[in-house]
Amino acid sequence: MKKGFKQYIALTLALGLLIPSVSFGAPKIEYGKFIVGGKTQKIALANVSVDSAPLTVSSGEVPPLVIDSRTLVPVKLVTEKLGAQISWNAKTEEVTIKKSDKTIVLKINSSTAKVNGKSKTLPDKVSPIIVNSRTMVPLKFIADEFSLTVNYNAANNSTNLISKSGEHVNDALFPADTVVNTDDILGSLDLSGVTVVQNNSNNNSVDSNNNSNQLPIVDVDNIISTPQGSNNQVNTSTSLAKQVSYNLVQQNMDNEIFSITGTSGLSSSSFFLSDPERLVIDIQGAAINSSLDANKFYSNSAFIKEMNSYYHASENKLRITLKLKDDTKREEVQIKQNPASVDVTYKSQKPKNSNMTYSADRINSKFELRLLSSYNAPSVNFDMFSNVVELTIPSSVSNLQPEIRNVDDRNISSIEVINQGQDTKIKFKLKERVNYALTENGINSKIGIKFTKQNRTKPLIVVDAGHGAKDPGAVSGGSTEKELNLIISQKLSARLKQEGYEIITTRDTDVFIELVDRAAAANNSDADLFISIHHNAAGSSAANGIETLYYPSDDNKALAQIFHSEMLKSSGANDRKIIPRANLVVLNRTKMPAALLELGYMTNSSELANLKDDAYQNAMVEGIVKAVNRYFKGY
Ligand SMILES: [Zn+2]
Repeated sequence: MKKGFKQYIALTLALGLLIPSVSFGAPKIEYGKFIVGGKTQKIALANVSVDSAPLTVSSGEVPPLVIDSRTLVPVKLVTEKLGAQISWNAKTEEVTIKKSDKTIVLKINSSTAKVNGKSKTLPDKVSPIIVNSRTMVPLKFIADEFSLTVNYNAANNSTNLISKSGEHVNDALFPADTVVNTDDILGSLDLSGVTVVQNNSNNNSVDSNNNSNQLPIVDVDNIISTPQGSNNQVNTSTSLAKQVSYNLVQQNMDNEIFSITGTSGLSSSSFFLSDPERLVIDIQGAAINSSLDANKFYSNSAFIKEMNSYYHASENKLRITLKLKDDTKREEVQIKQNPASVDVTYKSQKPKNSNMTYSADRINSKFELRLLSSYNAPSVNFDMFSNVVELTIPSSVSNLQPEIRNVDDRNISSIEVINQGQDTKIKFKLKERVNYALTENGINSKIGIKFTKQNRTKPLIVVDAGHGAKDPGAVSGGSTEKELNLIISQKLSARLKQEGYEIITTRDTDVFIELVDRAAAANNSDADLFISIHHNAAGSSAANGIETLYYPSDDNKALAQIFHSEMLKSSGANDRKIIPRANLVVLNRTKMPAALLELGYMTNSSELANLKDDAYQNAMVEGIVKAVNRYFKGY
C-alpha cells in the first residue's frame, strides 16, 4: 500500500498527443490490461477532456478507465485539476481530498464517502478501487462535489468536464506544450543506491553544489517523441550534467528576481521569442535539479506565466523557457550571467500611482495614500457580500489615476482605483477572515488602512515533515533525517489535535513531496500556521543544538522567537538562535506565518542519541505544542 501511494504521488498528467481517430464507423474503443484485485483484466480506456481539451497520462501510468459504464480517474487528477490536497491512510485505505472548506474521505471498495463528516452514498454505488497500485476514484462524484459538469458521450465513449464558471478548470496544469518533467521520469527509475546527503546544515532545498545529489537525467525529448502506447521504455542513457536550481525572490509586485543557480563556470545564452512572448535560456552542461517541478512554479510571479525546462541529452544542454505574462514587456526583463548563476530581473515599468503604497507581512498589511491636501473623514464602506472595502475621496485631493493592482497576498486579492464623477473610489477586494481599520483619516494629508488576517476559531495548522523517499535529508549514524522528521511530525500532529487544532500534514508516509507543493498545500487551504520539521547536520561533529529558521519579516520573527524559546526550555538543548532565511522554499512561498524547526544535529552523536530517544522527542513536541498555544491562545 505504501508503495502504491508513492507511485501515485509520482504520477503526473501531461497533456499527451491526441490519438487521432481514424475510424468513421462505430466508435473505436481502446482497451488496456490492468491489474485489479490481483487479477489482470481487460478494461476500456476513457477519453476524458477538460473544457474540450483531451488529456492523457504519462506512458506507464493508469489512464482514466471505464468500468461498468462508469469513468474512474486516478486520484492525482483531482489534485492536479482542482488544486485540492490529498492524503492517504494506508491502514484504513482511505483517501482524503481537501479543498477550501470541503473535506471528502473515500474508502477503497466502499460506496460510502464522508463529505465534511457526513456519510454520502456514491452515485450508482461506484467505489474507489486500486488499479495497478494506483488509486482510482469515480469521476462523477468528484465532479459533483467540486461543481464541475460531466458530459458523458456514450457514442464515442468520451467524457468532457466543463467548469461551471466557463473558464478552464485550471489551465496552467494543462499547458499547451507537452511537458514531461524529469523528476517524474526519475521516479520510475530504480534509485536505490543513490544517496542524497544534505551537506549544508540549513539548506532545505536540495543542495545544488553537492555532487552526491546528481541523479541520472533522462533525455526528455525521447520520452515526448515516444509514440503513445508503444512501450514504456525510458532512455536511461544518462549524463551527469551539473545540477542547477532555481528560485524566485519577490521583492514586491514590481520587482522580482528569478535566479538559476549552480556551481561556478555556468555558461548560458538567452534570447526572446514571440507568439507567445517568451524568454529562452540555454545553459551548457547543466540539468535541472530533479527535486524541482518546473511546471507548477510561477503562477504567482509578476512576470512569468509558465516555466518549462528540457534537458537535451545529445547536446548536454538545459533549455529553460519562461513564458512571459501578457502585459510584460521585454524591456522590463533583464538577464545577467554571473559566475554561478543566471539572474532574470523583472522591473515593472507599468504606470503606477506613486502616492499609493501597499505592503504586506504574513498577518498584517498596510495601505497608504498621500493626499494633495488635508481632508477630513473619507467615506469607508464594507460590502460583506462581495467582501470589498470601498474608500471614497474627492479626486481633487486623491490625485490618482485609474489602476488595478493584483495583490493576491493573504489579505487582499486586488486594489482597484476608479475615478467616478468628482470622486475617486479605491476598492480593496479582501480575502477570507480579514479585518480592516483606518489608521490615518486624512487630516494629516494621509490615509492609512491596516488589514489584519484573523485566525480561525479552531486554527488550521500545516505540519510538514521535511524530506522523504528518495530525498533522505541528513544521513548520520545509521539514521535518516526523513524518518526522524516523520516521527516528530506524527507525534506533534496527534498532540495538536488533542489541543483542539485542525491539522493538515504534508506527508504521513515515506513519500517524496516537492517543496513547492508543500507550500502550495498550505496556501490552498489558507492555513493559519505552517510548521516544518527538520533535523540538522554539520561537517563538524561538535555542532549541536536547536535552530529556528524564518522568512525575514516581523510577523515571522515574532513567531520564530516563541517556538525557539519553548523548544529550548522543554529540551534543554543548546541555543543556536533564530535565523532569518529568505531562500527556503517552504518559508518564502508560504503566505501564512511559518517556521522551520531544526531540532538538533544528527552529526553529533550524543545529540543524535537524544533525537532518537522517545522521551526526548516527547519533551521536544511538548515545547512545540506550548509554543503553538502561546501563539494562538496567548498562554
Ligand atoms: Zn532537512
